Amino acid sequence: MSDEKKFTTTDAGIPVNSDEHSLTVGPDGPILLQDHYLIEQMAQFNRERIPERQPHAKGSGAFGVFEVTHDVSKYTKAKFLQPGTTTETLARFSTVAGERGSPDTWRDPRGFSVKFYTEEGNYDLVGNNTPVFFVRDPLKFQHFIRSQKRLAANNLRDHDMQWDFWTLSPESAHQVTYLMGDRGIPRTWRNMNGYGSHTFMWVNAEGEKFWVKYHFHTNQGIENFTEEEATKMAGEESDFHTKDLYEAIERGEHPSWTLFVQIMPFKDAETYRFNPFDLTKVWPHSDYPLIEVGQFTLNRNPTDFHTEIEQAAFQPNNLVPGIGVSPDKMLLARIFSYADAHRARLGVNYQQIPVNKPKCPVYSYSKDGAMRTENVSDPVYAPNSKGGPHADPSRNRNDDTWASQGDMVRQAYTLRRDDDDFGQARALVREVMNDEERERLVSNIAGHVKDGVKEPVLSRVFEYWRNIDQEIGDRVEKAVREG
Ligand code: NDP
Repeated sequence: MSDEKKFTTTDAGIPVNSDEHSLTVGPDGPILLQDHYLIEQMAQFNRERIPERQPHAKGSGAFGVFEVTHDVSKYTKAKFLQPGTTTETLARFSTVAGERGSPDTWRDPRGFSVKFYTEEGNYDLVGNNTPVFFVRDPLKFQHFIRSQKRLAANNLRDHDMQWDFWTLSPESAHQVTYLMGDRGIPRTWRNMNGYGSHTFMWVNAEGEKFWVKYHFHTNQGIENFTEEEATKMAGEESDFHTKDLYEAIERGEHPSWTLFVQIMPFKDAETYRFNPFDLTKVWPHSDYPLIEVGQFTLNRNPTDFHTEIEQAAFQPNNLVPGIGVSPDKMLLARIFSYADAHRARLGVNYQQIPVNKPKCPVYSYSKDGAMRTENVSDPVYAPNSKGGPHADPSRNRNDDTWASQGDMVRQAYTLRRDDDDFGQARALVREVMNDEERERLVSNIAGHVKDGVKEPVLSRVFEYWRNIDQEIGDRVEKAVREG
């Protein structure tokens, strides 16, 4: 229908009389309660905001396509990963700690979530722009996020609180080093990599299992903002990353990433020199080289940010046959917590919102609940003899499993030879960064710490960095005490 033919209606489709004037008793008189259109406008407006995500509240995204360019069928039978297959996708990028209106360019990890609308159901890879994370046990996650958000009394963010948590959580050293380095502030979302971060399982058609890590390498090249550039941009254009992605796609400059995986044979995990399921560690490329899988391109902007991005629900438990979880404790907890967060934020029937709806048939026995839009038909139970859907084990062989036994304990993994909190952070500082990058690292840490970190946390900060690298620790202390 052309614009000329569109006439305003109420939400019930009833033509309205005016877009501008409420119904009153005479031009100077009071407003009438029966002006139900005015009331609908006010009531709807009052309910426009939904709870923001906790965390990853600020972000945006776009639609695209994933194309498999290389043959990884010997590692996984997942249909969307077979050679030549193309799959529609949705991606959302975000900061972690800031609220929905916060600047895009604050130093923070970035969420990098991709939904693949596959013919076997939705597959969600809910990752970050860093290959590791701050904690390895999910019991600490909530505390970690609170420490990055706001104090109870004054509702201010507080670096003393952040470093208090980090220095009492030495497993954070690798991620904090990454965060304080150049990659802690990407120039744009188009210029950053994405990582699945966790270890997942792949299973091939013969039932052979592998451990896998995902790496999306940006085809635009890695580019970062310095602290000064980012701070300036936060004032000039706080939605810079959101704007950049939207405008690039509008211009026809479709950002793309090459997907690689690292594959670890199933048995290697038992004897590898550190625990390969620990989310604070990477697998060195020299041990497990990158294997190319395909191309992921974003080519279509949302037309309604709220329905397509704000209501988008990514959840690591959306796995398809041929892909499973691993003993990574953080991943196992996220399997529960993401879907639970969506139920709390969007309602129990959030998977019927069009952006979250699978593009394959859904035959589940879920029924009722607030805002359900799909009709349910009898029978409403299984097993039944009334022609209802039934599970077919040949379609999902439940073969993405592993054996486990032991006493019930509270311990994040058995320590192995190379399991320590600082070694990989040290490798990043000493072997990956160059002199200029180390200089900026020291300056970024010192600037952050000088902004509110007090004793006794302050002394622990210097010790934390000396544990990573003696020289960096000394330089940070000098920069803070003398700067
Ligand atoms: P490599 O030399 O093979 O890998 C180093 C990787 O570091 C690069 O491939 C690149 O990752 C990444 N990198 C480059 N510059 C920076 C920077 N300024 N800040 C953060 N990351 C950067 O060695 P290893 O595989 O043995 O890893 C050595 C260290 O490199 C690790 O301890 C880890 O801190 C870091 N790293 C390793 C990754 C891995 O999966 N092995 C991934 C990312 C970082 P990319 O190719 O992904 O862009």
